[in-house]
Amino acid sequence: MPESLATYEVLNQSPPYADIDLFTSDVPLADAVAANGAGTEVLALSAFGRHWGTAEMLELGRVANENPPKLRAFDAKGYRRDMVEFHPAYHRFMSESVSAGLHAMTWTPEGTRAAAPAEVARAARYYIVAQVENGHMCPVTMTRACVGALAAEPALLQRLMPKIVAREYDPSFRRWEDKRGITLGMGMTEKQGGTDVRANTTRAVPAGDGYLITGHKWFMSAPMCDAFLVLAQAPGGLSCFLMPRFRPDGTVNAVHFQRLKDKLGNRSNASSEVEFVEAFAWRIGEEGRGVRTIIEMVQFTRLDCAIASAGLMRMALAQALHHTRHRTVFQKHLADQPMMRSVIADMALEMEGVVALVMRLARAFDRAGADPAEAAFARLMTPAVKYYVCKTAPAFIYEAMECLGGNGYVEDGMLARLYREAPVNAIWEGSGNVMCLDVLRAATRDADASRAVLAQLEKQAADLPGVSEAVRVIGEHVSSAGAEASARVLVEKLALLAATAALQTSGARAAEPFARCRLANVRGATYGARELDVDSVSLLIDRALPAD
Ligand SMILES: Cc1cc2nc3c(=O)[nH]c(=O)nc-3n(C[C@H](O)[C@H](O)[C@H](O)COP(=O)(O)OP(=O)(O)OC[C@H]3O[C@@H](n4cnc5c(N)ncnc54)[C@H](O)[C@@H]3O)c2cc1C
Repeated sequence: MPESLATYEVLNQSPPYADIDLFTSDVPLADAVAANGAGTEVLALSAFGRHWGTAEMLELGRVANENPPKLRAFDAKGYRRDMVEFHPAYHRFMSESVSAGLHAMTWTPEGTRAAAPAEVARAARYYIVAQVENGHMCPVTMTRACVGALAAEPALLQRLMPKIVAREYDPSFRRWEDKRGITLGMGMTEKQGGTDVRANTTRAVPAGDGYLITGHKWFMSAPMCDAFLVLAQAPGGLSCFLMPRFRPDGTVNAVHFQRLKDKLGNRSNASSEVEFVEAFAWRIGEEGRGVRTIIEMVQFTRLDCAIASAGLMRMALAQALHHTRHRTVFQKHLADQPMMRSVIADMALEMEGVVALVMRLARAFDRAGADPAEAAFARLMTPAVKYYVCKTAPAFIYEAMECLGGNGYVEDGMLARLYREAPVNAIWEGSGNVMCLDVLRAATRDADASRAVLAQLEKQAADLPGVSEAVRVIGEHVSSAGAEASARVLVEKLALLAATAALQTSGARAAEPFARCRLANVRGATYGARELDVDSVSLLIDRALPAD
C-alpha cells in the first residue's frame, strides 16, 4: 500500500456484488419464467445466470464500455475502409450471446417461429445479459428481429437463415456468403425524421437483380453488421431493402460511415451516421410497403427494449439491496432502517410488476402464431409495455443509485453506467409518445380484439384493488375525443393493469400490494412514498435478493 494511504483501513464498504447466480437469486424472475411456461428451463437458466454473474463477466462489462469503438473511415494512404473497430471485450460479449443463441433461438432454421417456450426462455436470458452489458445487445436484438421482416422474401430468407441461426460469432469483414455466422442491423432514421420515416429522402433505383440506393441514415447502429434493413423511396413509394456490406460480385458496397455518435450511454456499441452512394440492395417485400414490412421487425425489438430495461432495473435494485445490507449508518444496517426498507420494498414491488409484465409479453410472442387472443395481446401490449418499462427505468435506477450514496454516482461502480444506459431503450424503436399512439391505433383499429384483451385482464385481476376503476378509465380514454392528448394516462393504466393481472395469474403474493399501491392509490412522486404494510415490505425484500 502506498505510504500516504497506510493509515487507512477500509471499513464499512459493501463487498463486491459478483459471483452471483443471476437467475436463482431473483425469485420474481424464476416465478415469472415458471408462470409463463418455461419452468423446464430452470437448470439451464441457473447455469446461465451463474456464468453471467461471475466477477469476470461483470468486469468485462466495465471494460467494454470504457473502451468505445473507433471509426476507421480511411486507411493510411487515404483509401476508404469504412470499418469500425471494437474492443475485444465487446467481441467477447457478442461471442457469448451468439453462442447462447440470443440472436436467433426463437427461429427454426427455416425461419419459422421456434416452439414455445422459446420466447420466454430467451427473454429470461436476455434479461440476465442486460444486467451485465447492454451495448452489444443492439446487434443481437436486430439480428433476431430482422427475420420477421425478411419473411417477406422467402427465397432470400432461405439463403440467409443458416448463417443467422449459426451459433458462431464471426466478426471478420467478408462477404456474408463466406462467413460462418452473420449479424444484421437496420437503418430507418434520417436527419429530417426518425418517427416520420415516410419523409425519408434516400432513393432506390432498380438495377439488375436489386436496387442502387443513394442517400443517408442519421442513425445506423452496430455498423459492422453484415447487412442492414434499410428504408428508401423506390419508384413505387417507400420500400424496405436488405443492403449487404459486400455486393454480390464480392466488392465492398458503398456504405460510407461519416461519424460515430458520441452517446450518453450505450458506449460499447457504435451508432453511425452513414451515406450510401449507389449502394446495392435487395428489395424486401413489395415497393411502397416498406413500413408494413419493417414493422414486422420492430415488434420484436420493442419487446427486447422492454426486457433489457427490466434487466437494467434488476441489476440496479440488486446492487442497492446488496449495498444497504452491508453498509451501516448509526450502528444499524441501512437495509434495516425503516425508511430505507420502504424505499427498497417499493422498488422491489415495481420490479415484481415489471418482470411479470415482460415475461407475460414474451409468452404472448410464444403463442401468437397459434392463438388469436395471444396475438391480440402482443399487438396491444407490446407498445404499452415498451412505453411503461423503458420510460420508468431511468427514475428507478436513479433511486437505486442514491441507495449507494456517493459510491452510486462514481464511475468505479456500476450504477452510473446503468443510469446512462437506461434512456436509450425509451428513445429508439419508437419513442414514448409514438408508443402511446401505437396503443391507440391498436385499440381503435382492432377494437374488438383489444376489448377482449382488456376483458381478459379484468377477469384475471378481478377483486384486486383499483382494477375495475382502471378498466373504466382505459375504456373512457380510448373512446374520448381527446384520446391522443391523454394517451399517456391510458397507456400507463393499461400497463399497470396488465402487470397486476400477470402477477395475479402467476400466484405471486405481490399482486395485492401492487394493485393497491399502483392501481388503487395515487402514486407518490418517488419510491417509498406510499403505504406498504410491514409484512409486504419483508416479503418483497426477501424475494428480491436472498440475504448472504
Ligand atoms: C443510440 C441510438 C441508436 C440508434 N440506432 C438506430 C438505428 O440503428 N437505426 C435507426 O433507424 N435508428 C436508430 N436510432 C434512431 C431512433 O430510432 C430515433 O431517434 C427515434 O426513432 C426518434 O426519431 P427522431 O430522433 O427523428 O425524433 P422525432 O421523430 O423528431 O421525435 C421527437 C419526439 O417527438 C415525439 N413524437 C413524434 N411524433 C409525435 C406525435 N405525433 N405526437 C406526439 N409526440 C410525437 C417522439 O416520441 C419523440 O419523443 C438510434 C437512436 C439512438 C439514440
